[in-house]
Amino acid sequence: MDYPRIIKGRLDSFRVKPNIPDYQKMRDNFRWEEISSELAWFDNEHINIGHVAADAHLETDRRNKKALIWESQRGEVEEFTFANLAKLSNKFANILVNEAGVLRGDRVFFFLERVPEIFVGILGTLKAGAVFGPLFSAFGPDAVRDRLFDSKAKVLVTSPSLKRKIAEIIPGLPNLEKIIVVNRKNDVLDADDLSYEAAMERASENFQTVHTNKEDYAIMHYTSGTTGKPKGAVHVHNAVIGHYATAKYVLDLHSDDIYWCTADPGWVTGTSYGMFGPWSNGITQFVYEGVFSARQWYKMLEKWKVTVWYTAPTAIRMLMKAGDDLPGKFDLNSVRHVCSVGEPLNPEAVMWGERVLGKSIHDNWWQTETGSIMIANYAIQDIKPGSMGRPFPGITAGIIDDNFDELPAGQEGNLAVRTGWPSMFRTYWGKHDLYQSRFKKGWYITGDRARTDDEGYFHFISRADDVINSAGHKVGPFEVESVLMEHPAVAEAGVIGKPDPITTEVIKAFVSLKRGFEPGEDLKEDIKRFAMKRLSMAAAPREIDFVDSLPKTRSGKIMRRLLKAKELGLPLGDTSTLEND
Ligand code: ATP
Ligand code: MG
Repeated sequence: MDYPRIIKGRLDSFRVKPNIPDYQKMRDNFRWEEISSELAWFDNEHINIGHVAADAHLETDRRNKKALIWESQRGEVEEFTFANLAKLSNKFANILVNEAGVLRGDRVFFFLERVPEIFVGILGTLKAGAVFGPLFSAFGPDAVRDRLFDSKAKVLVTSPSLKRKIAEIIPGLPNLEKIIVVNRKNDVLDADDLSYEAAMERASENFQTVHTNKEDYAIMHYTSGTTGKPKGAVHVHNAVIGHYATAKYVLDLHSDDIYWCTADPGWVTGTSYGMFGPWSNGITQFVYEGVFSARQWYKMLEKWKVTVWYTAPTAIRMLMKAGDDLPGKFDLNSVRHVCSVGEPLNPEAVMWGERVLGKSIHDNWWQTETGSIMIANYAIQDIKPGSMGRPFPGITAGIIDDNFDELPAGQEGNLAVRTGWPSMFRTYWGKHDLYQSRFKKGWYITGDRARTDDEGYFHFISRADDVINSAGHKVGPFEVESVLMEHPAVAEAGVIGKPDPITTEVIKAFVSLKRGFEPGEDLKEDIKRFAMKRLSMAAAPREIDFVDSLPKTRSGKIMRRLLKAKELGLPLGDTSTLEND
């Protein structure tokens, strides 16, 4: 299918004026210092993300505004105002300091379900001047041990059932001094554990937030592990300037919005945009604890009248798989702005959004390391399906060659970002050499490949590690996967290069089918023919395997390296972030 080259920003459909009325003007006039002056600094050098996200609202009319609306899998609802969050996080900070002996810079890790306590706890950790690290609740014991060991975490905040899951690793963690257990179901606790509930009860609600330096470490996020062993990217308090600015101008948050970020706090989107971005802007956010179900997600959008929705390609593909009729059964009129991040957003998904949801899905690009959105489609902007948009106004992105020199528009190369933006990571924990190796000639090398067009839009090609060399042509899996997804039977596709004596590599595709389609040789041939018509000889898949599902990280990214390792009978490497492991 030929996609319209551009979907016009539908200006007349805006119910509120977008925060960026004119991209170029904004870019020409943008100054980080101005943005940063909108935040609650203690003085020129000192800021604390916990303070900015919660306490800074206390002296404003947002004091009693809802900050968090939480719904559990079973339908229980809990609501917290900014004042509630400020008070509860003070209590938690007191627990850390008085009962767990936490000092400035200590690491406090959260291995917890998506319950309100994780939000309170993270804010409290920041206010105490400590560094927080979140862990997916679905991680197994090895994944948790690796991260707690690597980070030398002093405190672990968990729940009784998750603690049971990782009981075997605890004796092997010499730096772990205290376990705080959030006990929502009134389990019997182990004698050494600190009960969150009991400690919160006795803790004072007054706490003097530590006046952290803007360069003090605040956040430790392990990367998704899509390409290899996860690395601990470390961010500083200054990062909140980036969270704030991009939430305002990319997510286009307005004061009366109800915002839903579907990402788990276990990965960076769930904290940068599931906490700090919206809350530094004083926005009400909804959090759904439950697992994915298309019906349930549409119901949540309808029930809570969500206006701004930030989700991921994997979720959008699952919604597509659930059928085009389903959204029509819900009233989704409240939804004003939809954004996506995490993987390339296939043009087919953008068109589906237009056709079925009646919404443009605004793709944006960033990484754990960049801390905040770097390249985006803005509310006002025309969308070119398949493009991740243009650099955020305060950001300079470029395409550079292997000598780290910039390439002109149209040429494919390494996606790089000029150093010095506020939320840039400051090290890979314990791997500073690796960190330094990512910076050349004033650029941060992202590890992704892309190209720009003559209007300055960026087009993702592939992760550098995933590039396939087919008969001398460089082929990115995204291009092939996007074409396969246009076939009516295909729900998802993962594409790899398979070694071949003649062409170096041939393209092999792993395909999962939509409901109602049966795997079989005829369908395989049909999909191959379909792809052949749309792709060059070098890019068309030579082999197709049908699979029930593709291996993915917990954050929903297709793990092509696992497809490849399995295909070639090689060791699987680090699988700690593998979903359904
Ligand atoms: P690891 O670095 O451990 O292999 P990861 O790179 O998947 O894991 P993240 O930082 O969570 O860890 O993901 C960032 C990467 O996700 C980007 O470098 C890019 O490859 C991909 N990505 C994110 N958003 C987009 C997007 N909009 N379009 C294309 N790719 C994207
Ligand atoms: Mg990465």
